[in-house]
Amino acid sequence: MTAQIIDGKALAEELRQSFKARVETLTAQGHQPGLVVILVGEDPASQVYVKNKVNGCLAIGMHSEKIVYDKDVDQQVVLDKIAELNADPSIHGILVQLPLPRHFDEEKVLEAISAEKDVDGFHAENVGALSQGAPRFIPCTPYGVMKMFEKGNVDLTGQEAVVIGRSNIVGKPMAMLLINAGATVTVCHSKTRDLNFHTRRADIVVAAVGKPKFVKGDMLKPGAVVIDVGINRLQEGPDAGKLCGDVDYEDCLNVAGQITPVPGGVGPMTITMLLANTIEAAERKAAVEAGARK
Ligand code: NDP
Repeated sequence: MTAQIIDGKALAEELRQSFKARVETLTAQGHQPGLVVILVGEDPASQVYVKNKVNGCLAIGMHSEKIVYDKDVDQQVVLDKIAELNADPSIHGILVQLPLPRHFDEEKVLEAISAEKDVDGFHAENVGALSQGAPRFIPCTPYGVMKMFEKGNVDLTGQEAVVIGRSNIVGKPMAMLLINAGATVTVCHSKTRDLNFHTRRADIVVAAVGKPKFVKGDMLKPGAVVIDVGINRLQEGPDAGKLCGDVDYEDCLNVAGQITPVPGGVGPMTITMLLANTIEAAERKAAVEAGARK
């Protein structure tokens, strides 16, 4: 049996359309959601991501701007800009595009962003809130994956879930969200002794490894839900230059019950959830101000 495909591109579009009304309402109340994206250096992939983030905001009526610094800029200049944006009431979300140049202390920069404007959800305060089961901002990629489970009608309660990867951006917050949703979660990584043992008994596999076509069909339990977070560019062979995920899609298609493609799966959901986080930040601020007026 061929797996059902969870179409991230279609879901992202559906969600973005639904955001327009919320943005309109907020704008009418004087709270047009605003996102600033800070880019340091000229990494080509980062430039594309930043452009997509800003354009994604503008397309649904939000305010968005990018601030670009030379790769050699002094870290203090960026910290001063973040402090200025933290105090700017028209800005609800601040994002620093990673990776930063080597002379930067990434943690220090991320912690400088006000926890109320940390739409990436990387600030320690927001990581803590998520692990306590009361998140303020959920990191965009795992947030998008949760929306895909919802779309695929995947009931996570009591399910055996295996997350491959333990990064702060994807693996760890993903595991937290699955725990909070009632799944029994195993997190695997490069030191895991017998990966196949874990994946073969999983009802749900989330792959965030960064290795092209890493997950094969024989690593899966038939009927498993397979979420492919990976974005890799193939270096060789007839498909060189093309994007592929961490899952060998063709090999898994007839084993999995549901699967996400690459491209067109988790990727489009990530920026969509960044928009969601910025709108949620503006809604929270509007609610606080409305409460203060009463
Ligand atoms: P990282 O490199 O930070 O983490 C990769 C993880 O995979 C690590 O925890 C590593 O283990 C683990 N790993 C590596 N090799 C193995 C192995 N042989 N067996 C088991 N685990 C292994 O990557 P990210 O989490 O940032 O990203 C993962 C993938 O997701 C990448 O392809 C990235 O491009 C993509 N991505 C996609 C996004 C989207 O919008 N769709 C957003 C963010 C990322 P260890 O910790 O032990 O080193």
